[in-house]
Order: sequence, then C-alpha cells, then structure tokens
Amino acid sequence: VDFDGKVLYPEALAGERMPPANLGKPSGWSTGNGYVTASVAVPSPSNANVSWYIMVRQPLDVALQPARVLLYRLLLLGLIAAVVFGLVAYYLASTLSRPIERLARSAKQVQDHQPGAVFPQEHPVLEIAQLGRSLTGMTQSLLSKERELQDANASLEATVAQRTADLTQANADLLKLATHDALTGVFNRRRFDEKLAENSLLFQRTGRTFALLLIDADYFKRVNDTYGHAIGDDVLCQLAVLIENTTRATDFVARYGGEEFAVLLPEIEEPDSPEVVAEKIRKAVETAVFPTVGHVTVSIGVSVAEPSDRDTSALLKRADMQLYEAKAGGRNRVA
Ligand code: GH3
Ligand code: MG
Ligand code: MG
Repeated sequence: VDFDGKVLYPEALAGERMPPANLGKPSGWSTGNGYVTASVAVPSPSNANVSWYIMVRQPLDVALQPARVLLYRLLLLGLIAAVVFGLVAYYLASTLSRPIERLARSAKQVQDHQPGAVFPQEHPVLEIAQLGRSLTGMTQSLLSKERELQDANASLEATVAQRTADLTQANADLLKLATHDALTGVFNRRRFDEKLAENSLLFQRTGRTFALLLIDADYFKRVNDTYGHAIGDDVLCQLAVLIENTTRATDFVARYGGEEFAVLLPEIEEPDSPEVVAEKIRKAVETAVFPTVGHVTVSIGVSVAEPSDRDTSALLKRADMQLYEAKAGGRNRVA
C-alpha cells in the first residue's frame, strides 16, 4: 500500500484504497470485517517523509486454524483421559471395592444370623482372598460351635427332664415306702397311727364317731410251721386284699403288726355298723380258699370312739380286749 493507502499488490486488488485508520501502525494488529490485519511502515530510501506500507491480512478462520486444531486436540485428549479414568475407576471398583462390600454384606448376614452368607475365596488381590478365607473359616467354626452349644443345651434339657422325672418317681416311691407296708401294700403302722390321731381329733371337734377293727389271723404260727414262711407271706397278702375288697374306699386298712391288720371306719351308720363290717370280713376270709394252705380264719375285736376317751390308746386298748375276747371265745369270730 503506498503512502496514500492505495493497494499496490496483489494485482487483483490494485488501485483499491485502504482506510487511513489502518495505516502507519508499525507492527500493529487489528481485527475487523472477519480479518486479522497487520501493517508495518517502510521508510522510503529517497524520501524520509514518504513511506509505504506492507499490510498483510488474513481471514480469522485461516489465522486461528492452528489454535482451533490445538483446542480440538486438547478436548479429545480430555475425553480420552476421562474415559481412561472412568475405566480405571470401574476396574478399581470391581476388583477392590465390590469384593470388600460383598465381604461386609456377608459378615453382616452372619451377625444377623441370616443363612446363605458366602465369602469370596479367590481374588487377584491376595489380602482380599485371604480375608475371604479367614471369614469363611471363622463363620464355619462359629456355626459349628453354635450347633454344638444347641446340641449340648438340648441334651442338658433332656437330662434335666429325665432327672426331674426320676426324682418325682423317687419321691413318689419314697412316700409310698414311708406310708405303706412293703409286703401287703396296705398302709403301714406309722401311717395308721397318724390316721388314728386325725380321726380322733376330728371326732373330738365334730363328734363324728368312728370305729376301729383289730383283725388277727388265727393260729398263724401253724401256717408258717406247716408250709413255710413264704407261703405265710402269701396268705398275709391275700388277707390284705380280702379286707380291702370287703371294706369301702373311705375305710382305712393298715397292717398293724405281724399277722394283724387294723381297719378304721370313719362312717359307722346302719346298715354298715362296725360289727356288720367286721362280720363281713370274717366271713370273707372264712370262705376264701388260700392256695396250698386251704382255709384260714381271723378273729376281730371292734371298738367305737367314745367322748370320754382321753387319747387314742383307750380306743386301741378296747379293741385289743375285744380281740382277746374273740380269741378266748374260740377264734374265727367278732367281739
Ligand atoms: P393266735 O390264733 O393266738 O393268734 O395264734 P397265732 O399263731 O396266730 O399267734 P402267735 O402270736 O403265736 O403267732 C403269730 C405268728 O405270725 C408268728 C409269726 O411267725 C407270724 N408272723 C408274724 N409276721 C409274719 C410275717 O411277716 N410273715 C409270716 N410268714 N409270718 C409272720
Ligand atoms: Mg397276733
Ligand atoms: Mg394270730
């Protein structure tokens, strides 16, 4: 461009004028109308005041092309970096975080006593694999210990139940032993004494009369001497059964001594007066057939409680005297 601003080159634009504002700015750059423009004043060798200018302009697109290429490259690089980071994060999550989460979940299942807890055994990271194996081992030992404990508990409970049942049975046996005669099964002398005292107290308080029968086997020594003691025992057992079967459930039958039985009759109203009951017993024994021995008889002494009795011994004494009477009267009778 010459000093007037007329274009000298390129020839296609020769003769056009540049706006004066763009002239004479040494090394100046300006943008406008989509162009980047630079101009420099070149002094004329012949005339220092007159100069011409070299102006260069280029469309913005062309001028900024390398920068744009760089920008795209940077964007691409950023994208690749993001993808790579994403993949690395995914890899780390799937190889480290997730197995650890799974371990934690399974451990929680074990803690909450939920079934189906599984710990991964194999893993590229040795520590995780080791952790999985250790937790599996610990869980198995915990479960087996728990099972052992449950089994022990169950067997302990069974043992306790068995012991309790045995103890209850033993107590029942003991009570029976303490109150019953071992040979005949009827109440023993100890229980008889208690029952007699109870009836006596009741009589004193309510006036409810009761009676006592003392039953003695006749010539029992002979039975033993003739057939032996064992057969004698059998006769005593059968006598006890006969007496029990002839009396009421509310009557009280006991073995008073060797071949003697005692019966307490708490109700003595007609028609079953004590004498009637005694006679029934005597008759039942007389008519019964005893294996080996054949026939056996009994003598029975009857006494009835009286308000003047100071204690039970008076009643017992009267029954004993009546028994003596029955024996003296020829045996096999009621007095
Ligand atoms: P009585 O008619 O005067 O009563 O004559 P008894 O022979 O029955 O009377 P005694 O008192 O002389 O004899 C009673 C016998 O009873 C003697 C004894 O060996 C027997 N005796 C006592 N207790 C038992 C027993 O538990 N089993 C057996 N087999 N015999 C017994
Ligand atoms: Mg006797
Ligand atoms: Mg006798």
